[in-house]
Amino acid sequence: MNAVTTIAQEPLVVTEIPGPKSREIHARRQAVVPVGVHSVVPVYIERAHGSVVVDVDGNHIVDVCGGIGVTTIGHTDDAVVAAATEQLSQVTHTLFTMTPYESYVRVAELLAQHFPGEGPAKTLLMNSGAEAVENGVKIARKFTGRPGVAVLEHAYHGRTLLTSSMNHKAAPYALGYGPRVGNIYKAPNSYPLRDGLSGAEAAARTIEYLEKMAGAEDLACLVVEPVQGEGGFITSAEGYLPALAAWCRDNGVLFISDEVQAGMGRTGTMFAIEQFGVQPDIVLTAKGIAGGLPLAGITGRAEIMDASQPGGLGGTFGGNPVSCAAAVAVFEQIERDDLLARAKHIEQVFGDALRGLAAKHESIAEVRGIGAMLAIEIVKPGTLEHDTDLTQRVISRAVQQGVLLLNAGVSGNVIRFLPSLQFTDELITTVVRVLDDAFTAESA
Ligand SMILES: *Cc1c(COP(=O)(O)O)cnc(C)c1O
Repeated sequence: MNAVTTIAQEPLVVTEIPGPKSREIHARRQAVVPVGVHSVVPVYIERAHGSVVVDVDGNHIVDVCGGIGVTTIGHTDDAVVAAATEQLSQVTHTLFTMTPYESYVRVAELLAQHFPGEGPAKTLLMNSGAEAVENGVKIARKFTGRPGVAVLEHAYHGRTLLTSSMNHKAAPYALGYGPRVGNIYKAPNSYPLRDGLSGAEAAARTIEYLEKMAGAEDLACLVVEPVQGEGGFITSAEGYLPALAAWCRDNGVLFISDEVQAGMGRTGTMFAIEQFGVQPDIVLTAKGIAGGLPLAGITGRAEIMDASQPGGLGGTFGGNPVSCAAAVAVFEQIERDDLLARAKHIEQVFGDALRGLAAKHESIAEVRGIGAMLAIEIVKPGTLEHDTDLTQRVISRAVQQGVLLLNAGVSGNVIRFLPSLQFTDELITTVVRVLDDAFTAESA
C-alpha cells in the first residue's frame, strides 16, 4: 500500500479555489511558461489517488476529467505504481529500435488480442495521441499508395502540424501556424441533436461529400473518433459508422478508429468501435493506455502495418519501458476488477442522474455518450442556441465546491464527464448534486 491511498474519496474545500499557494505558483509560471500553454483550471495539484486530486492548498477535488480520460482506472492505481516503480529500478531506456525489451512485445500482444478488427494485428508504440494519428496516416499512405486523408466535422486529432490541420477548430489549434497540411478532406458528420438525420442519411451526405471533394481513389484513410471527444462527445446516429466503414471497404480506403479518448475500456468495451458493429483497419490508442504515463499505440491488420520498410517507423522514446510496464498493469486491472462492467454501470447510474437533471433544467438539451464518457449539451431554453456562458459559470461554480469538470464542443457549450472506472455511486450523487445547485443558481 502506498501512502496516497489514504486520500478520502470525497470533496473537501479548505480555501478559495485556486488558493493562495496555487496563485503564488501561477504568478511564477507567468514569467517562464508561454501563454499558448493554457491551463483551464489554474489549481496546482500535489497528489492524487482514485478519483480525487489534492491541490497545494490542501483542497480535495473530485476529478471528473481524469486529465482528459487518461486516468481511466484511477489516479496512482496501486498496481500501476508498483509495476512502474519496479521497472524504474530495472531499466528506464534502451531505445526499442536499437536494443529491445520484452514489455513492448507484451503490450503489442495485448493490443493484438483485443484488436477490434480482423486479425492478426501488429502494433507500433509511440508517446502521444497526436503521434498515434501521425503514424496511422503514414502507415495508411504507405499501404494504399494514396495521399488523401478524410476526417469529420467536429473532429479533434492533436496539435502537431499534421493533426492540427485535421481538427475542426482552426482556433486555437491551427490559426497562425500555417501553411496547413494539404490533402485533408473534412466531411460533414452525424450529429443527431442538430442535423435530425438518420444514420443512413448522414452517411450518404458524408460519402457524397468525400466522393465529390476528394475522390475515393485518392483517399488513403478515413480517420474517425467513434465518439467525438473534444467535439462534445457527439455520438453518431445508428448505422452511420457501419455505412462509412462499408463504403471505405468497397473503395480501398482504410478505416482508422481514433480511440485516443474513447478507448481502453472507457465506454464499456475495450474499444468503443466494437459497440458500433464496425471492424476498423487500424485503431489508435493513447490517453488511457498506461495509467498516466505517456504511451500510444497504432494497432492494425498485419499486412497494413508491415507495408512500411524497416526504419520507417519509430522514435527515441516510443514504447518506453516504464510506460509499457504501466500499460501491462492497466490491462490486468481492467480484467481483474471487471472494469468494462463498471463502465456500463457508470453509464446507467450517471446517465440516469444526468437525465434527471435534464428533466429539471431546461438549459440541458441532451444527455449523450456511452460508458464512462458522458456529456450534457447546454443551450438557451427552448432553442438549440449554444449557451457557452452558462456552461462556463456552472463549471466555475462546481470547482468552488470541489468538483472538477471540463467543457467540450466546438462552441464550448458541452460539459463532458470522464470519471475513472472506479468512480463510486456516492461520488456520482455528489457530482450531480453540485451540478443541480450550480444550474439552479446560475439560471436564476
Ligand atoms: C487527445 C486526443 C488526441 C491527441 O492526443 P495527445 O496525446 O494530446 O497528442 C488525438 N485524438 C483524440 C480523439 C484525442 O482525444
